[in-house]
Amino acid sequence: MRESDPRCFAGLDIGGTSVKSILVDASGNLLGDMVEVASRVKDGYEATFVQLEEALGLLTDRAGRRQSDIAGIGLDVPAPSSNGVIRVQANLGADWVGTNIRDEFSARAGVPVYMTNDGNAAAAGEYAARSDCDAGLLLIAPGTGLGGGLVLSGGQIYEGSNGLALEVGHASVPFREAGGELPDCSCGLTGCAEAWVSLMALRRRLGIELAQDKWKDHALNASDASIEEKAYQLRDYAENDDPLAVSLFKEQAFILGYAIANWVRLFDPGLVVIGGGLSEASFRDRYMAWVIEGFEDGSWPIYLENPFDTQAVSTQFEWARGGDSAAALGMAFVASEVFG
Ligand SMILES: [Zn+2]
Repeated sequence: MRESDPRCFAGLDIGGTSVKSILVDASGNLLGDMVEVASRVKDGYEATFVQLEEALGLLTDRAGRRQSDIAGIGLDVPAPSSNGVIRVQANLGADWVGTNIRDEFSARAGVPVYMTNDGNAAAAGEYAARSDCDAGLLLIAPGTGLGGGLVLSGGQIYEGSNGLALEVGHASVPFREAGGELPDCSCGLTGCAEAWVSLMALRRRLGIELAQDKWKDHALNASDASIEEKAYQLRDYAENDDPLAVSLFKEQAFILGYAIANWVRLFDPGLVVIGGGLSEASFRDRYMAWVIEGFEDGSWPIYLENPFDTQAVSTQFEWARGGDSAAALGMAFVASEVFG
C-alpha cells in the first residue's frame, strides 16, 4: 500500500534549455505532472544544482509530499559520463568536466543519486512507458546529433565499462557523397552515421542539393535565410510533400535503417524505438517505412521474421511514446529500481 511506504523517487533530466523532472512513488507510479525549470548548464554545475533543488521543491509541493520522502534521485546529463564524472565537455560549462557531479549532488541533496547520459535515460523512459516490454529495447534518437540507448531485459541500462557504450552516432556506415568522399563528422572521424542522420547532416546535404541544377528554381534557393534556418524549414516542406525535402528525409531514414541493421546484429533487441523530434512529424509513418526499407536492405532474413513462425516478426519498430518527458520518467523509474 502506498500509505505504508511514503518514499518517492525523482528523475531529473538536465538539457541545454530546461531541466525536466518527474516524481514517482515506491511502486513506480507517477506523482503529479512533469515539472520544468530553466537550465543553467553553461553557468556551471553549482548554478544547475540550484535549478535541480527548485525542481525537487516544486515536484514534492505539487504532489503533496515532503522533500524528506525522496529516497533516491536519477539524474541524466547531456554528455558521456562514467561513475558520476563527465569526461567530455559537450555543451556544458567548463567546470562540469572532471568533477564527480553525482557525488556532489548526492551530498548536497542528502539522498543517493544514480547518474547516466540522456540517451540511456530516454531508453529507460521508453522501457518504463511499456508494460509489455520484458525483453528490453534499443532506442535510436535522431536530432541535432544521433543518440541511442540500450535497456536490457529486466530494465537495466547497458552503459559499458566506462559509460561510453551506445555511441551509435559515431559508428561508421558505408555511404559516400556523390564524388566518393566520406563526410566529416563533428567527432573528428569521417563516415559516421551522425554525419548522415542528424540535423547537422541535413544542413550539409541541403547545401549540396541546393547547388544542383535540378533544384535551381527551388523556393529555398530564392530565400536569404541561413542554411541552418533553411534546414529547420525542411520539416514543414516535407509535411507539404516538397520533393527535395522528402528526398532528403528519405535518404536519412534509409541510412538510419541500414545502420540499425548493424546494431540489431550486435544486440538483437527485439524492439527498436525511434525517438527524437520526428516522432511528432505528420510524415512520420512514411519516415518509418523508409527506415524499415533501409533495415531490410542491410539486415538478414532471420532478423526480419522468425524462421519457425512466419507470422512472427523478429524485430519490431515503434515510435517513442514518452515524448519530451521520457528521460525524466526513465530516471525516476531507474531511481525507484536501484534505490527502492
Ligand atoms: Zn562521429
